[in-house]
Amino acid sequence: MELSTPIQYVKGVGEKRAALFAKLDIRTVGDLLAHYPRDYEDWSHPLAIADAPYGKPCCIRAYVVSAPREQYIRKGMVLYKFTVSDGRDGMHVTLFNAKYTAEKLTVNTPIYLFGTVSGNFHMREMSAPLIERDPLADRLRPIYPQTAGLNSHAIEKVVSAAMQALGNTLDADPLPPALRESAGLMPRGEALRAIHFPKNHEQITRARERLAFEECLLLQLGLSRLKGRSRGETAVKCFQNHTPDYERLLPFTLTGAQRRAIAECMADLQSGHPMSRLVQGDVGSGKTAVAAGVAYSLIREGWQAALMAPTEILAQQHAATLAKLLEGSGIRVGLLTGSLRAAEKREVLAGLADGSIQFAVGTHALLSETVTFSRLGLVITDEQHRFGVAQRAALAEKGAHPHLLVMSATPIPRTLALIIYGDLDVSVLDELPPGRQPIETFAIGSDKRDRAYGYVRKHIEQGRQGYVVCPLVEDEEPDEDGRLPECTLASATAYAEQLRQGPLAGCRVGLLHGRMKSADKETVMADFAAGRLDVLVATTVIEVGVDVPNAVIMVIENAERFGLAQMHQLRGRVGRGVHKSTCILISDNHGEITRARLKAMTRTTDGFKIADEDLRLRGPGDFFGNRQHGLPRLKLVTLTGDMSLISRAQEAAVAILRADPLLQQPQNRPLAKLVDALFEEVGEQGLN
Ligand code: ADP
Ligand code: MG
Repeated sequence: MELSTPIQYVKGVGEKRAALFAKLDIRTVGDLLAHYPRDYEDWSHPLAIADAPYGKPCCIRAYVVSAPREQYIRKGMVLYKFTVSDGRDGMHVTLFNAKYTAEKLTVNTPIYLFGTVSGNFHMREMSAPLIERDPLADRLRPIYPQTAGLNSHAIEKVVSAAMQALGNTLDADPLPPALRESAGLMPRGEALRAIHFPKNHEQITRARERLAFEECLLLQLGLSRLKGRSRGETAVKCFQNHTPDYERLLPFTLTGAQRRAIAECMADLQSGHPMSRLVQGDVGSGKTAVAAGVAYSLIREGWQAALMAPTEILAQQHAATLAKLLEGSGIRVGLLTGSLRAAEKREVLAGLADGSIQFAVGTHALLSETVTFSRLGLVITDEQHRFGVAQRAALAEKGAHPHLLVMSATPIPRTLALIIYGDLDVSVLDELPPGRQPIETFAIGSDKRDRAYGYVRKHIEQGRQGYVVCPLVEDEEPDEDGRLPECTLASATAYAEQLRQGPLAGCRVGLLHGRMKSADKETVMADFAAGRLDVLVATTVIEVGVDVPNAVIMVIENAERFGLAQMHQLRGRVGRGVHKSTCILISDNHGEITRARLKAMTRTTDGFKIADEDLRLRGPGDFFGNRQHGLPRLKLVTLTGDMSLISRAQEAAVAILRADPLLQQPQNRPLAKLVDALFEEVGEQGLN
């Protein structure tokens, strides 16, 4: 038996069960061994009933006092109730649909029960415990992610059978011995045995460390190798750096950071190999001007550029900004979104196909098959974390090895960036354009809401504008006597109406939310940008990109609903002009984490610091949401808990590749094979 052997040939599996394993994405013996326990049951110290803790899983040793009674609840649901005793105390037990187990539980059978005790001192209860008749002394039992028809114990048996059949094959170790020793890691076979069938908790920790390290290492090796591979391709070459001409077009001087970032991109463009670069910078650091500058040089040499944005509003805004920045250069910017009228769309498509439009800006619509470019040389994606790797690639395929520039608006902690953007070079904009005044941020309870709106009014009377952000659009009716909803989720629609009638009476209040028709959104945005609206009540559609320098105040309702990074993004919509700006966070949530988050917001406006804090408080989910980022799934590594492991693996990967860039030396071949396998699903071109 080998790791590549199909699961169905393991003892006790067969065709039918193999189908169940497939539901867990387990197809081979190797997949099975990588199906790591999500937790462990400690059967090693069975307790007396009186000693069992409430509400926490444990193992109890007892014997059956009364045989299980069958009780039909409804179709497909049968309960089995019985009583056990340890000689001193008794306990009720309930099993569900467990005919097979129940039938064996005759009076006086000694058993071990694993489960959670509930009830009270007079009569304890255990519902749906696991039951074993043999003592499992000295053992922690794995708990596997399971699926209907395949429970954890069944999986455990199969893992055990597979390990036995594998024998020494299990000990093949892809890590070169020198690395294993210097990193102080367990051999692979030992780690696999220990993670599935540990003797104690220390073994689990060490096994997990070893396997997580390997997982990280493979990922890093794969990403670095892809980076190297795309460097091997030949790409559109830019012969001259036209940045000085670009700067002359601009109404402002580039910051040092912008200049540096453009120069780094230009070096890539002149190298003859495709660029894969991430430009990271805080909100308002001027990423668009960097992208435009890079595009400018290529366009001057006859190439086209395409910029893809995650939302229609953002695409429209980018198109407008770029057209303005590049005004007088003769460069035509074309906007392509899903909501374009047929005639407009035809015109843009024709312009892209014949090259008369040099700069395409759009949403996912750019990816559609009808879009063809005449000479696509540069692909730019904005707010990258919203696009899967595959989408970047799909756009890139519309040219022959075009350069790739990714703009990320969410600053990301360095270690996390290593994982997510391991295939990209990074330029950082660590400087804001001059003259920006830091945004002052306050966190208040809803009892001070009236004062907050008084403050908003004052700014509006001085000719400024503001945003009010609500988490969701709901069709919730306003409160009984027309009062603002207090602790409830603010609903943008109702809320806008109440502001119009209440605290902001007489002000021009507009509404923007995700369920509006695109044309309506456009109108509202245009009205706000042109100053025809004083206040924009909005959901998070304004999160990214929207740029109205006269907007100086933002109120965020139900601030506890937002992640830190997201709030930071939102806040970045103000403080874009010369006026001092304010952000007011309203929340009645006193949870510890919420408090810590709001406090972080009031303390700093540095996006990188906020990103670190967010990661610490909430984990990486906030950076990705549920969106796919297109990288292989990490099974053991957690991006929050394993920062030092990630760094160590990264260092090891760099050292290995320095000595053997193509992983061709004999001691690295097993690693190379695993890296290939890991990236097989993703697809090679998917990461370029
Ligand atoms: P972000 O990095 O958040 O995408 P933008 O590209 O939207 O930032 O730029 C924010 C604002 O700053 C825009 O109004 C832009 O015109 C302006 N800006 C960009 N670079 C400079 C600069 N060097 N000097 C002054 N203003 C700038
Ligand atoms: Mg931007």
